[in-house]
Parts: sequence; C-alpha cells; structure tokens
Amino acid sequence: MPHNLLILGGTTEASALAEYISKTDVKATISYAGRVERVRPQPIEKRIGGFGGIAGLVAYLKSANITHVVDATHPFASQMSHNAIAACEQANIPLVALTRPAWQAQENDKWHNVPNIAAAADALPEKNKRIMLAIGRMHLDQFYHKPEHFYLLRLVDAPAVEPAFPDKVIEVSRGPFTAENDIALMRHHKIDMVVAKNAGGKGAYAKIAAARALGIEVIMITRPAITGRDEVASSEAVHQWLLSNG
Ligand code: NAP
Repeated sequence: MPHNLLILGGTTEASALAEYISKTDVKATISYAGRVERVRPQPIEKRIGGFGGIAGLVAYLKSANITHVVDATHPFASQMSHNAIAACEQANIPLVALTRPAWQAQENDKWHNVPNIAAAADALPEKNKRIMLAIGRMHLDQFYHKPEHFYLLRLVDAPAVEPAFPDKVIEVSRGPFTAENDIALMRHHKIDMVVAKNAGGKGAYAKIAAARALGIEVIMITRPAITGRDEVASSEAVHQWLLSNG
C-alpha cells in the first residue's frame, strides 16, 4: 500500500518536515489544532481542528486511510502526543515522534528549573519584577495570583480576551526571533526575569540567548515526559523510518 502520512504539526520542525516530504513521492497531510488565526502556507494538504480525543483520532485515521503518523507537535503538547500513542496503538498504525533535544544551560545562564507551569508561577519572587512571560496564551491564568509584577507577553495573535494582569504589555509577533532583537526588546521593557518552556529547537531560543547576554534570570519549565513511542530527530530520519516501516 502506498504511504499516506499524517503529520501532527504546529511547530517549525513540522513545517520543515512538510517541506521535505513534499519533495518525495510520499502523500502527506499536516494537521493543526487551530489555535492561531493564520497557519503557515504548506506544500502538502492540511487539516485544521481537534480530532475529538482518542476515539476521534482513530476514526480519522481510518476514514482518511492514514498508513503512518508522525507526531511533530510541540514538546509541551502532551495531550495530543498521548492521544496519538493510544490511537495509533488501537488502529495498529506505526507512529514516530519528531523531537528535539531540550536546551541545556550554558555558562553564564542563570536558570531555575521548575517541573511545570504552576511551579514557575510559585517560583516568582514576591517583590515587583519585570517579567517576560513567554509561555503562549493558554496558561497565563496560572500567573494571575502574582499581579504585583509587570508582564511582557509575546503572543502569536492578539488575545480575544484581555489577560487579567494589571501591568502588562502584549507584543504580537510570530517571529522569527533573533537574539539581537530580543536583547533590544528586553532592554526596552527593562526585563529582569524570563519565564520560558524548555522547548528545545531554534525557533524559540532567541529569548534564552538574549537573557544570557543580559545576565537575566530564567525560570525554565521542564518539558513533560512522554514515553511509549519511537523518536527521531530530523526530517531525513522520518523518511528513513517510513521506508523501513512498510
Ligand atoms: P495539547 O494540550 O497537547 O492538545 C489539546 C488538544 O488540542 C488535543 O487533544 C487535540 O484535540 C488538539 N490538538 C493539539 N494538537 C493538534 C494537532 N496538531 N492537530 C489536531 N488537533 C490538535 O496541545 P497544546 O499544547 O494546546 O498545543 C496545540 C498546538 O499548538 C499543537 O499542535 C502544538 O504543536 C502547537 N504548539 C504548542 C505549544 C505549547 O507550548 N504547548 C507551543 C507551540 C506550538 P482533540 O482531542 O479534539 O483531538
């Protein structure tokens, strides 16, 4: 049977994989959750929106005649990743994850590693700080009990509902970001602390490099552990995996 690949996307790496696969003879569809207003144009077919849990994904895999699944979602999109593992097992479809190593602290980095978003909020000091809160828009409410700080929020789209921080600036931008620009941004807003997810990869690293250059502390949220799947680290390796899995 010819390959019919489903790429679970929403990352720079998933877009690069779509580009790579479009140059092969493999048929592929990229899937988005639909969280951002405009998704990037892709050279392969795309679908947008949740599947409806594990059962919905199993139904989709069958109705679309998917033969292989690549989970190229963000390392913090753990619900989707767990659903993909369970659905592929039920549908007996091979699954691989396209992952990127977590960032490692380098010399001059001032990181405080915390296990999750709630712990990041708890780790903020009581006195007023000027914080770049770079965690997307979905979990901002976990910081609402620390209203004494100034928050710089960088979001892909302008939020439909204004985040309830008394002192904030919202920077709407989808990147790409550079360390130079992020240094200028942090200087402009007199940032003295960054809260970030340990996403790994290049797309979100500029703020980490900028914090290092400016000697700014980073509360670094450790990524959730996801087990029970094969992982590869490049588009080429995904292609090889496809060829060696029927
Ligand atoms: P999540 O909590 O793991 O997933 C929640 C639900 O969203 C899933 O159960 C699924 O709904 C739907 N969903 C997630 N990814 C999907 C995809 N690629 N295609 C179709 N449905 C998807 O995910 P999240 O953390 O909200 O992230 C949502 C998307 O944004 C992901 O695709 C991820 O790659 C991207 N993203 C996330 C982050 C982050 O920090 N979490 C950062 C950058 C990009 P159903 O159960 O209805 O199928």
